[in-house]
Amino acid sequence: MYLRVALDVPLNTLFDYAWDGGEVSPGSRVLVPFGRRNAVGVVVSSSENTDVAPERIKAVTRLFRETPVIPPDILRLLQFCSDYYQHPLGETIFNALPTALRQTKPLNLPKAEFFRLSDAGRTVDPANLPGRAVVKRRLLLALREAGQLSRDEIAALSPSAKTALKEFQGLGWAEEAEISSLAPRAARAIAAPATPHLNDAQHQAVTAIHAGLGVFGVSLLHGVTGSGKTEVYLQAVEAVLLRGAQVLVLVPEINLTPQLEQRFRARFPAAHLVSLHSNLAGGERLRNYLDAQSGQADIVLGTRLSVFAPLPRLALIIVDEEHDASFKQQDGLRYSARDVAVIRAKQANVPIVLGSATPALETWHNAQSGRYTLLSLPERAVSGAKAPDIHFIDTTRLKLEDGLSEPLLAALRERLARGEQSLVFINRRGYAPVLMCGQCAWISACHRCSGRLVAHLRERRLRCHHCGHETRIPPACPSCGNPDLVLLGHGTQRIEEALELHLPTARILRVDRDSARRKDALPALLKQIHDGEVDIVVGTQILAKGHDFKKLTLVGVVNADGALYSADFRAAERLFAQLMQVAGRAGRAELPGEVLIQTQFRSHPLFAALQRHDYPAFADDQLAERRQVGFPPYCYQALLRAEAAHLESALKFLREAAKLGEALDNPVEIYDPTPAQMARIAGKERAHLLVQSASRANLHAFLKVWRTALEAREGRSVRWSLDVDPLEF
Ligand code: ADP
Ligand code: ZN
Ligand code: ZN
Repeated sequence: MYLRVALDVPLNTLFDYAWDGGEVSPGSRVLVPFGRRNAVGVVVSSSENTDVAPERIKAVTRLFRETPVIPPDILRLLQFCSDYYQHPLGETIFNALPTALRQTKPLNLPKAEFFRLSDAGRTVDPANLPGRAVVKRRLLLALREAGQLSRDEIAALSPSAKTALKEFQGLGWAEEAEISSLAPRAARAIAAPATPHLNDAQHQAVTAIHAGLGVFGVSLLHGVTGSGKTEVYLQAVEAVLLRGAQVLVLVPEINLTPQLEQRFRARFPAAHLVSLHSNLAGGERLRNYLDAQSGQADIVLGTRLSVFAPLPRLALIIVDEEHDASFKQQDGLRYSARDVAVIRAKQANVPIVLGSATPALETWHNAQSGRYTLLSLPERAVSGAKAPDIHFIDTTRLKLEDGLSEPLLAALRERLARGEQSLVFINRRGYAPVLMCGQCAWISACHRCSGRLVAHLRERRLRCHHCGHETRIPPACPSCGNPDLVLLGHGTQRIEEALELHLPTARILRVDRDSARRKDALPALLKQIHDGEVDIVVGTQILAKGHDFKKLTLVGVVNADGALYSADFRAAERLFAQLMQVAGRAGRAELPGEVLIQTQFRSHPLFAALQRHDYPAFADDQLAERRQVGFPPYCYQALLRAEAAHLESALKFLREAAKLGEALDNPVEIYDPTPAQMARIAGKERAHLLVQSASRANLHAFLKVWRTALEAREGRSVRWSLDVDPLEF
């Protein structure tokens, strides 16, 4: 018998190996000889015959029996992704597996650590614990309620819950529980504690989602920040948990998982929730993945990679912030986890809810055309809370002091006097984006990229934000020796410095990727803000999402104009989403919020819609424009990306590829090859070729034949890949 095996290699083929150990299910992991080494493979099918010559066929070294096989529905989803994204099946499968399952060593499966009360522990009356033993009481109650809790679930109760657990164990109150002793999930008490009374819009949304359980359907839950989307998710999830089924919740970034995770855990203390993202240690990620696959996990909360987690009892998928670009993987398998989630829901015949305040225009278009059900939450959920007032500061007429206008400074002073917090938003870290010589026009360019080196004054370094290249800030112009180099433009560090100068009594905190670089630094920074130890936060988009600061009443946006004259047709969409999001930080609780945006284009229609918090007006406007010029969602696109040491080789390859494509009998438009927007990154020149069609079927039929033709070409000096539904150009 022969096994057809997928390997993690960039070749569009499967590999046959001999096997005489009996039936093997597809999805099994095997160890096979490959070249001079051993490789892990995944069995895709088996067969009585092979096209490989008998003397060349090798035998499977080992079948890994200790881990469960990849289930058929996930294999089917991966096969779809491989076809749709024109990516080798082997790499597609391995992209979906936790690292621990890609290794050639047999696995020592991490022991799941669950704890329960001992007989002695069950006799303890929480009322008899001392009044200040808050955490111990909480732990005792949680263990009573749930029967058993994992170490993670205990840790989520409180930062000191692990210590309390140790004490319980010392007292003989708690003991380890075998995972196999877990009661069937459906039988466990999963009812939620008191839930808020839903407003009408929320109620309608929840009712619609409940009614749709059991069949495929896509809903777009559209509502501004604070309109109560999460509450809708929670109540939808509750219905699923009560049926004993599983929910998959996708979030764009790891940064956002802890908050949502806490809310889910607080609402469903007895449910088993696991997270899946790339920041987890290998063993933990594997354990969570296996919990999902075994059905032990009720809720899987994760970033894009979790869309491939096996879930035998999946009944609902939720994608929060569905418009977020980080759902799209930008290398290897260039998939969109949001789109794959929709396909997965369809294959599994379960509903999917896409939530956003500013949906992707593709999604909005589908909701308008009736393919998706639109569920709107038009108002903020907390009574009295209203959307922040948005005003513009016209910088064409004002003198800026270090990038800051007098009206913005005055507003900041006002909040400071009232003891309220402000956020100054600027989407560029570092001190200044360019260092320049006024005499010979030398600028701090990166020698490996087509970008500039950003000055980080604190560290006295110039840094490339694209390739990571770093060097000292030169004391004088490297070209002419002029000692007076000029810093142009503004980054977070410079704004921070200017604020320190203009508002000397304010406590200022900078939150960007530099200040949050150390692992776990971000939660500490956020805590400072929550604890009111900060008056003014200077932050990048790292802060724009999800965080809810009760005392924050003012958001100042320092420089947002770049996107208005960008060549990227999605720049306006991104800017609108970003500004809506950052505006959502202001005035969430009792205090009303205000947003001040410095711009030279205050009459731009984007700003007019923003001021009215009118996403539909903005979206319809953009869609009309896109329809007129035939951009997505009114056409389907793919990019052929090429990378080479010299731009000319990349372009030459693309010209040949275009010729090959034109020779094919397929009705798609093929554009001219062009250098990428960032043509050079880390010493590699990048260019691409756009193909598009008004018909997705035509585009995909073309891509399939074209790719085969490209793979048959000789010559390997150019690395190329296809990017289907590209977001970056
Ligand atoms: P979103 O996810 O859209 O930002 P949330 O679900 O986080 O909105 O709700 C925003 C705030 O309003 C939260 O503090 C939440 O607890 C509260 N909230 C949500 N729904 C209701 C409701 N029906 N009644 C009262 N408060 C609510
Ligand atoms: Zn010079
Ligand atoms: Zn660089």
